[in-house]
Amino acid sequence: MAAGMTTRLVHADQAGIEEAGALLAGGGIAAIPTETVYGLAACMRGPGVPEIFAAKGRPQDNPLIVHIADVSMLGQVVAAIPHAAMDLMDAFWPGPLSLILKKNPGVPDTVSAGLDTVAVRMPAHPVARAIIRAAGEPLAAPSANTSGRPSPTRAEHVLADLNGRIPLIVDGGPCDVGVESTVLDLSGGYPTILRPGDITAQQIRKVVPEIRIRRTAADDDAVPASPGMKYRHYAPSAQVVVLDGKPAHVAREVRQRYDYDREVRRHPRILCADRRTDLFADLDCRSLGQGAADTEQRLFDELRRADIDGRDVIYFLYEDDMGTAVRNRILKAAAAAEGSERAE
Ligand code: AMP
Ligand code: MG
Repeated sequence: MAAGMTTRLVHADQAGIEEAGALLAGGGIAAIPTETVYGLAACMRGPGVPEIFAAKGRPQDNPLIVHIADVSMLGQVVAAIPHAAMDLMDAFWPGPLSLILKKNPGVPDTVSAGLDTVAVRMPAHPVARAIIRAAGEPLAAPSANTSGRPSPTRAEHVLADLNGRIPLIVDGGPCDVGVESTVLDLSGGYPTILRPGDITAQQIRKVVPEIRIRRTAADDDAVPASPGMKYRHYAPSAQVVVLDGKPAHVAREVRQRYDYDREVRRHPRILCADRRTDLFADLDCRSLGQGAADTEQRLFDELRRADIDGRDVIYFLYEDDMGTAVRNRILKAAAAAEGSERAE
């Protein structure tokens, strides 16, 4: 990547779509809005794919999701489409569900990280689909953040991480969903959710009843989240402490910790459901809204905002109605940040 590259920020209008499409068609890379998070895209078969890994600092063995504009592109990506996949596409596409299927041999090994499978989805964001059409080929795109940082849900987040490292960001405003797609493995064996997202296991089971959920260390209730997982994920600079339990108990615990932090001149921040903010009216506390959709939408923005505001520690009050996608992300954030912990 050329040093001192200028990163252009353009609006997600017709001109922006055409500029991104032309850049991608010519083998370049560009950050584009999707309904989940911003993606850093390149044509699936083009020379831009290795540049994605370089710009993000992404480990080479972590495969990319391929994005298509319509089902007519699917044949370029996958080798076969099982019935369960068709039913799920009917139910959830376009939308935040990535399916792992046997790959078409035309998908380069750089995209699939050497696997014989590929992750594919059709984004709901009309700008994302328009850019794919303008590029004329399925786009390989991971999240447009520096590897290990919270995923970007606004163009400013992409700029903060990748300014000078990529040529173009198409600014489509804040992402609607805010967490990455649900990843469902249908490549053989038992259908398994590898990553929770906005589309829940419950919703998927209405279409494909027999699915499993892969449990990770961070999902396990019995052990505190440990930093020993393969990759750092979603980590702000601030320490992250996840608390979950009876509200009165949690509130007392947070106040004690908060007071101690202030004594030792640390700057804490509390993130909690809107209905709990009254408990902390005199403290630095921000609302995550109400329920899964709000919390997903605000999560990564709030993790990044805490860093910008110079907070040293984030107390995240988890509630069951925030859902498994939020739970998965915040436990990974806590596990990744040095010295973070989980308290109950
Ligand atoms: P990101 O693009 O940053 O949202 O990350 C894509 C996620 O999908 C990562 O967790 C990948 O490990 C996962 N993924 C992509 N392709 C595959 C595949 N063929 N098999 C298993 N996981 C995959
Ligand atoms: Mg990512």
